Amino acid sequence: MNEPRRPRVEHGALPAPTKEHLDDCRRCDLWEHATQGVPGEGPTGAKIMLVGEQPGNEEDLEGVPFVGPAGRMLRTLLDEAGIDAGRVYMTNAVKHFSFVLRGKRRIHKTPLQRQVSACHVWLESELVREKPAVIVALGATALAAIARRRISIADARASPITDAQGTPVVATYHPSAILRAPDHDARAALRASLVADLVRAAKMANG
Ligand code: SF4
Repeated sequence: MNEPRRPRVEHGALPAPTKEHLDDCRRCDLWEHATQGVPGEGPTGAKIMLVGEQPGNEEDLEGVPFVGPAGRMLRTLLDEAGIDAGRVYMTNAVKHFSFVLRGKRRIHKTPLQRQVSACHVWLESELVREKPAVIVALGATALAAIARRRISIADARASPITDAQGTPVVATYHPSAILRAPDHDARAALRASLVADLVRAAKMANG
């Protein structure tokens, strides 16, 4: 059995999280079964940073964030909100795919709190390096990772929060919630809500 490699960077060093950094990271156990670490992606100086939960099956295989079904939904919603997907920075709270096997299928498993906490060094380094004008937290895991405490999306909307650098956070749903919605009405409501939050984020980013 291969000895796990030691992480090259300890908490607090705040390097840019390159793919190599993530592939070498052993801060939690998620690297073990995932294909690769998936770093954030976006242009330098992006005003909006979108933070999801973790890479999904397709992201894990391709090494690129938001390229699976939820990512395609997100790109459609960005378009509806009038936001150019090529001008935002997209990343996840956790950089390796967390899943359980059902037969040959890899099914998404919400990362554990200790895994989210272990991975926070990489998210923090992206936030410090990219300095977005506004952060969009897509779902409860991303929101908790950014806020560093459990807070509901409803509460974060009622009393807006910031990250550790004071950057405003728009809390909204993860696009996968739309894909999982039980019926047309629920899907439409979630979709409208997410687009409205993206529009709000764009307005905040543009001052
Ligand atoms: S999920 Fe994050 S903390 Fe865990 S091994 Fe991957 S990069 Fe490291």
